[in-house]
Amino acid sequence: MSSPDPQTHHPIEAELRPPERLEETLARVERLYRDVVVPREQALSHRLSNERAFLDDAGKLHPEIIEARREIMRAAGEQGIYSLHLPERLGGGGLDREDMIYVEEKVYGYGVKLNPAMLSWSEGATPRLLYCHDHQQEQFVAPLVRGEKTSLHGVTEDGAGSNLFDMKTRATRRGKDWVLSGAKAYITNAFDADIAQVLAITDPGQGRRSFTYFMFDTREYLNKGYRIGRVFQTMFGDGYTGEIFFDDMVLPESAVIGEPGQGFDIAVMSFNYTRMRRAGMCSGWSRYLIERALDRVKHRQVGNRPLGANQGIQWMIADMYVDWLQARSLSLEVARSIDTPGPWYRLPRPKDEVRRICALKVSNDESFYRVADRALQVFGGAGVMRDTDINKLFQIARNLRIPGGTDEVQRTTIAETLGLRFDPSKSAPADDRLKGS
Ligand SMILES: Cc1cc2nc3c(=O)[nH]c(=O)nc-3n(C[C@H](O)[C@H](O)[C@H](O)COP(=O)(O)OP(=O)(O)OC[C@H]3O[C@@H](n4cnc5c(N)ncnc54)[C@H](O)[C@@H]3O)c2cc1C
Repeated sequence: MSSPDPQTHHPIEAELRPPERLEETLARVERLYRDVVVPREQALSHRLSNERAFLDDAGKLHPEIIEARREIMRAAGEQGIYSLHLPERLGGGGLDREDMIYVEEKVYGYGVKLNPAMLSWSEGATPRLLYCHDHQQEQFVAPLVRGEKTSLHGVTEDGAGSNLFDMKTRATRRGKDWVLSGAKAYITNAFDADIAQVLAITDPGQGRRSFTYFMFDTREYLNKGYRIGRVFQTMFGDGYTGEIFFDDMVLPESAVIGEPGQGFDIAVMSFNYTRMRRAGMCSGWSRYLIERALDRVKHRQVGNRPLGANQGIQWMIADMYVDWLQARSLSLEVARSIDTPGPWYRLPRPKDEVRRICALKVSNDESFYRVADRALQVFGGAGVMRDTDINKLFQIARNLRIPGGTDEVQRTTIAETLGLRFDPSKSAPADDRLKGS
């Protein structure tokens, strides 16, 4: 059901029109997919198409899936694909946001099996690495950029999600060291991460200067102040989300990313990256769904004629296309405006940029969700079956509207940066208070 009809020409593909300058890069992506990803997907098809076999007995991602993902990450690193989004000085490919949209939509357009591991995501080489010191390069930065190690990002807590200032995790000075205490919840890659990047309050009451990022080797500190908790069973059964604890964990000064008090700025920069990354992801997955929905309604016979002969179905397909085109066009426009003043991570940024980034996220997440909802509807009972790509993407689409800053957080930031900010007690601007990881 999930593979497209090879005889069918998909008109949307002709609309992608990636620029010529990316021809070689996209050909490399295609080779990596064909030579490295597809064989592993075939070998693990029994796990990838059965959510019970996708997880182990404890409900965590099955070790064979973890290993296959890691092999793909390493291969993508060797072939210079995994970290195309990072500057060359860090070992990345130096692509700007616009070019990354074309790369991301190609990678996600392959579907929802092992292909996303071709590109670094929240467990990989995030732009927080831009703030790492020389002494952190060899142990942390280089292996993350090459896809040889994975990380977790610990910001959210049970009682602190949308508003960073609700955070309880503290790091206090003890001589030259820091003592970290607290807990983080809903953490992606909680069980397998080699490296942890954790945000804590170090100077309470100092507004944006209250926060500091720490980075450490999870295995070095496991059960020495660092503890991994239970698995959180998400609606899309990722087996990958959980909680972590810091029990008066002692970290050296060298564990700080950037400078003490700089954590907020680094967090905002990395939330912006997470949000911008939605563009290619949602475009690729939406296209994947539209193509499969098109195939389905052309071939599915209901009452002796193709399902797609019904106007009600045609309009659903048309609405899916409109959603995809609107979100993708907006993304390319926003990406170009972000790239124009120079690399998106170079500070300071134009004031209205955060508004455009929030618009990109909410537009992509909600459009993709509507596309996935309609795809499921046209598949009928088959779409309701959990072990299908259609259903999996519907669950993922619903999830995307929460992490990275919820729909409401994006809208609040947009409204406040348009001048609708009425609470003078809030010292930090909207983008500084509201978050999402
Ligand atoms: C699958 C998954 C993976 C995740 N991975 C990570 C991770 O790796 N690292 C990490 O740190 N976090 C992670 N998160 C956490 C995620 O960032 C938070 O769930 C998200 O920021 C929302 O916080 P919350 O769940 O506490 O919701 P809350 O903050 O409690 O919000 C609840 C609802 O209220 C709304 N709301 C809140 N404030 C306002 C307001 N001012 N105005 C209007 N509405 C408002 C929200 O939009 C939401 O709809 C992950 C979450 C999920 C689901």
